[in-house]
Formats: sequence, structure tokens, C-alpha cells
Amino acid sequence: MDNYLVTSFDNGVTRIREKYIAEDWRCNIWHISGRDKDLLIDTGFGLSPLRQELAELSPRPIIALCTHSHHDHAGGLCQFEHRYGHANEAEIFTYPTIESTVADLLDVTVIKKQPYDGFDIHTWSYQSASLTKCVDEGDVIDLGDRHFQVIHLPGHSPGSIGIFETKTGYLFSGDALYDGILYDHLYHSVPDQLQNSLDRCLALPLKVVHAGHYDSFDLNRAKVITEEYRAGKRSMLCPSV
Ligand SMILES: [Zn+2]
Repeated sequence: MDNYLVTSFDNGVTRIREKYIAEDWRCNIWHISGRDKDLLIDTGFGLSPLRQELAELSPRPIIALCTHSHHDHAGGLCQFEHRYGHANEAEIFTYPTIESTVADLLDVTVIKKQPYDGFDIHTWSYQSASLTKCVDEGDVIDLGDRHFQVIHLPGHSPGSIGIFETKTGYLFSGDALYDGILYDHLYHSVPDQLQNSLDRCLALPLKVVHAGHYDSFDLNRAKVITEEYRAGKRSMLCPSV
């Protein structure tokens, strides 16, 4: 996988990161192996082929699910046949724009290598990727031997979802919860909702959070992040703290 960095975790989980996107910007793409099919959580910018490269990991069919519609998570979704996400952002997946996918936050420092001739970070937005299935709170994604619960975690964006596996205690949290400053200042962010979503994450019997950005962490770290957010220390709205 020339354009990707691949790291294996326990229980058939693989983290894939885009080599040529700045470290503090690229999302974690999570590949989870199942008996009958695999689950891919988020798809990165999609500036280089991902679908074909995943064939090196597994021959099984793939469900590609986006935790939300932002450019750094949903850019590669169009490469996949089975595309899952939340109805609140279905319109954005179908009609992505620079503004609706918050690609207007990007600048030239984010892209470390020109992906193709004619690429311009100032005008780029990802290709349309209509959802083939809308998922919502309480839905279960069945891989044959593994079952993942969908949890609606709005606040960062209205259709943000987390994916939780009871058997392993793994939460794939997208941008609702990661170990960094949380983006609660975007055009469709609602900070109070984000606080509720963080509290909901803590109520789960979680062992490991595999987040949308940066490293994975345990429940204790999730508690620290949540309390620091409550105190205004991890909010983009309080940059001076
Ligand atoms: Zn986001």
C-alpha cells in the first residue's frame, strides 16, 4: 500500500493512514475483519486508490461506513459499492461542496505530495457518494461473527456516528471523541450536543477508543478528555485556554 501507512491492532483491526496528508489532519481509516465481510470505518481524502489496495488485506466484501461527511473522512467513499452513513448528512454525501464538507479549512500545508496533475487544494472537493444505506442509533452491522452497534453522536456534525462492539469493548468514535482539541466550531457543530455525545461514550462498557484522529486510548483517557472538554480546555471555541 504505497500511499498508506498500515498498523495492525488486536482482534482483526487495522489502522490505515494516508502517507501524504499532514499528520495533524489525516483521519484514521479503520479496517475490521469479519467472517463474511469486512467493515471499513472512514475512507480518508480518497486522493489515491484505496479500494484496490484493501484487496491486499482481505478478499471479503467491504461495507464502507463514514462516521460523518467531512472531507478528511468521506473523500474515498465513492470508491466503494456499499456506502453507509447517517441520514442527517445524506445530502452532503450526495452533493458534496467545499463548504459543506469543510474543505474550506484546507491549505497547501495539508497535502505533502501532489496526488495527480491538476490537483488544486483550493478548489478540490470529493466526488459524490450517495449512501446506499442510512444507519441510525440502535442499528447493528453484522459481519457474520461480529456485531457492531451504531450510536448517534451529534455535535461535531449532525450525522456523526460511533460504532461500538460489545465483545471487544471497542468504540470507533470518529470526530466525536479523539485525543486532541475537538472541532465544535464548524458551521453545523453544536457544542452542547457534543458534550452529551461525549457523556454517552463514557456510559458504554468501553475498553479501547479507536478514534477518528491520533492514537487510540482507554476509558480513563476518555474520561479525562470529556472532563477537559467540559472545562473548556479542548474546544476550538476556546483557543486561548
Ligand atoms: Zn470532522
